Amino acid sequence: MPEDTVRSIFVTGLKNAHAMENQALSIMKPQVSRIEHYPEVAARLDQHIRETENQIARLDQLLSEFAEDRSAIKDIALSVTGAMAAMGHTVAGDEILKNSFANYAFEHFEIAAYRSLLTIAEQGGFSASTAALRVNLDEEVAMAGWIEQHLSDVTLKFLSLKSAGETAKV
Ligand code: MG
Ligand code: FE
Repeated sequence: MPEDTVRSIFVTGLKNAHAMENQALSIMKPQVSRIEHYPEVAARLDQHIRETENQIARLDQLLSEFAEDRSAIKDIALSVTGAMAAMGHTVAGDEILKNSFANYAFEHFEIAAYRSLLTIAEQGGFSASTAALRVNLDEEVAMAGWIEQHLSDVTLKFLSLKSAGETAKV
């Protein structure tokens, strides 16, 4: 496989990951601002928002090392889509559950994206890029694990709030 082909596929993957991370911010930020009754979820989302901002900085650094013109990146459309997906869950009164499912799915999308990027980096011999990608991957794995570990508690809390006649408040 010609090196410039692998390189171009890798750069496209980095750009897609950059857009994905901006989408992640546009999903998590509206969620965390609405949470009142699930402080542990809010704290973990806050942490992951800060992690995500650092992930974007790492991707920016990688893209600048590959001398890409950052102005060409079309992140905006994806960000809007993400915000709308988050809003869609606010209506039915089980927002915290649907957001948990969606976040769990999104973290696994990110995990797959970074695993694939790491394979491309290995194939292209871009060994200077792998450390940053692994940091991002590890943070996604940790976030997915946290959501999985807390899903039962969040569900039980949701049940208890609903039983106590709480409104649709998150
Ligand atoms: Mg991420
Ligand atoms: Fe993530």
